[in-house]
Amino acid sequence: MIPYLRRYRNRYIKGLTLVLFGGAFGIVTPLLLKYAVDTLEEGSTREAIAWASLAIMCFAVIRGVFLFASRFTIIATARMVEYDLREDLYRKLAHLPAAYFDRHKTGDITSRAINDLEGARMVSGIAILASVGMSFLFLMSLAAMLYLKWDLALLATAPLLLVTGVFIVCGPRLHTYSLASQEQLGAISNRAQEHYTGARVVRAFSREKEEYDRFDKECTEYERRNIRYAKWRGMTFALMTLFIQLSIVITLLVGGKGMITGVVSKGDFVAFTAYQFMLIWPMIALGWVVNLVLRGAACMGRICEILDSPSEESAEPLKESLLLKGEIEIRNLTFAYEADRPPALSNVSLKIQPGWKVAFVGKTGSGKSTLAHTLLRLYPVPDGTVFLDGQDINTLPLSDLRSSISIAPQDIFLWSDQIRNNILFGSQKERTEEEINRAAEISQLSADIEKFTDGYDQIIGERGLTLSGGQRQRTAIARAVIRKPAIIILDDALSSVDSHTENEITQRLNTFMEGRTSILITHRLSTAKKADLIVVLEEGEVKEQGTHDELLSKDGPYKQMWKAHQLEERIERRA
Ligand code: ADP
Ligand code: MG
Repeated sequence: MIPYLRRYRNRYIKGLTLVLFGGAFGIVTPLLLKYAVDTLEEGSTREAIAWASLAIMCFAVIRGVFLFASRFTIIATARMVEYDLREDLYRKLAHLPAAYFDRHKTGDITSRAINDLEGARMVSGIAILASVGMSFLFLMSLAAMLYLKWDLALLATAPLLLVTGVFIVCGPRLHTYSLASQEQLGAISNRAQEHYTGARVVRAFSREKEEYDRFDKECTEYERRNIRYAKWRGMTFALMTLFIQLSIVITLLVGGKGMITGVVSKGDFVAFTAYQFMLIWPMIALGWVVNLVLRGAACMGRICEILDSPSEESAEPLKESLLLKGEIEIRNLTFAYEADRPPALSNVSLKIQPGWKVAFVGKTGSGKSTLAHTLLRLYPVPDGTVFLDGQDINTLPLSDLRSSISIAPQDIFLWSDQIRNNILFGSQKERTEEEINRAAEISQLSADIEKFTDGYDQIIGERGLTLSGGQRQRTAIARAVIRKPAIIILDDALSSVDSHTENEITQRLNTFMEGRTSILITHRLSTAKKADLIVVLEEGEVKEQGTHDELLSKDGPYKQMWKAHQLEERIERRA
C-alpha cells in the first residue's frame, strides 16, 4: 500500500499535523478543570469560574475546527488512494490474459474489486487518522498523569499491561477469523453469480431446492464464521473494558486516600481522572484500528494477487496501423493449456494463402477452437510457430494483430445493451448506419431486427438471453463482419441456424470474404466442400489436409466423414 500512500505524502503530512494540533488543544482541558477546581477550593469568585469555562469552550471550538480539517483532509486523501488503486486494479484486469479468467472465478474477482478495495480504503483513511491521533492522545495523557502524580500514574496504568496481553492473545485470532469470513463472502458472491446466470438451467432441471440448499449452506458458513469472529471480538472488548475499569478503581482507591490525607489536591484528582478517561479511549480505539489494519492487510494482499499477475505481453503499438494481407503459416505448433496437461494441439503445420477459404473439420474436442484462438494469441504460443504475413505473431502488437482478425466465437457473449451496440462492439472506428445495416444483412439478421419493436435500439437481455440461439450467432457474425478484417474466423457460428438460412448467409458471406482469408469451423461438410483447403483435426493433430477432391481421392478420415455426411443428407431429404 505504501507506494499509493507515498503519492499523497504532503496531504497526509498536512492532515496529520492538523490531527496533532487538535489533540494538543484537547490535552489542555483537564488542566483548566484543575485550575477551576483548585480556585473553587480556595473560595473562588464566579468570575474565575466563568473565565475557566469560557477558556474550555474556546479550546473546544478550536479543537473542533482542527478535527474537522484533519478528518476532511485525510478521508478525502483516502478516497484519492482508493481511486488510484481501483484504476490500477481495473486496468490490470483489462490486460490480464484470457487464461487468467479460465482459472479464477468471476465472483471472487468481483469480491476483490469491491469488498477488498473497501478494506484497503479504510486503512488509508480512518486507520491512519485514528492511529496517529490516538497515539498522540495516549502519550500526552500518560505524560500529563505522570506529571500530575507519577506514582499514582504508574499504579493506575499497570492494568493496561493486561490489556496489551489481551491483544497479544486475541489479535492473531481476530485476524484469522476476519480473513476467513472475508473469504467466505467471496464464495457467496461466486455462488450467487453463477446461480443467477444459470437461472434458466436451474428451473429447467427443477433444481431450485438443491441450488437454494447449496446457497443456504454457504450462507450458514458465512454466518458461522462471522459469529465466531463476533464472539472473539466481544470477548476481547469485554476483557479490555474490565481491565480498564480496574485501573479506574485503583485511581479511586489510591488517589482518594491521597485526597483524605491531603497529599493530592482535589484539582489534581479531577485532572488526573480526566486524563485517565482520555487514556482509555485510545486503548479501546487501538483494538479497532489494529483490526482495521489487519483486515486491510489481508484485503490488500488479495488485491496484490491480481496486481502482481503478469499482463498479456505485447509489443508497442505500431505508428501506422498494420494492414495484414491474411497469409497464415503454422509450423510445428504444439500447445497445451496447462503445462501438466496433454497438449490440445500437437505438431500442427499448415499454410494458408491470403484470400483462401479454409475449413477446419473434426470431432468436438479435436482442437479446432484452440487452433483458432492461437491465431488471435488469446493464449501464449511458442516463438517461431505461428506466422501472419511471414511475421511471428509474438512480435506483432496485440492491438494491431487483433484488429486484423475477427472471430465469431463458439461461446458467444452479448451485452445487455442495444443490438446496435452489440454489433458495433468490435469496431474501433465510427460506423455509419449504412455499414451497420450492411453487416446485419450479410449475417441475415436485418429481417429479425425489423420485427423488434425498437429495431436496432432493442435492448437484448443479459448475455443476449432474449434472443434465439440463431439470432445470437448471427449477431456475432455481424459483429465480426463490421470490422472488415483481413482474416475472419467463424467458429461453428452457423450451428444454430437452419440449413436454408445457412446457405443464404454463406452466399452473402462469400461476396464479403473475397480478398479476405476466412476460416470456417463447421460440422456441415457441404459448407467445407467448397473450401480452398480443408484441415482435418483429430485429437489435436492434423490428420489430413487438402481440397475436397484431393481428400476424397485418399482413403482417409475425410472420406469416411464425407460418406457419413452423404448418408445423413439422403435421410434428411427422404424425411
Ligand atoms: P473443438 O473446438 O475442436 O471442439 P477445443 O479446441 O475447444 O476443441 O478443445 C480441445 C481440447 O482442449 C479439449 O480437450 C478441451 O478440453 C481443451 N480445452 C479447451 N479450452 C480449454 C481451456 N480454456 N482450458 C483448458 N483446456 C481447454
Ligand atoms: Mg470448438
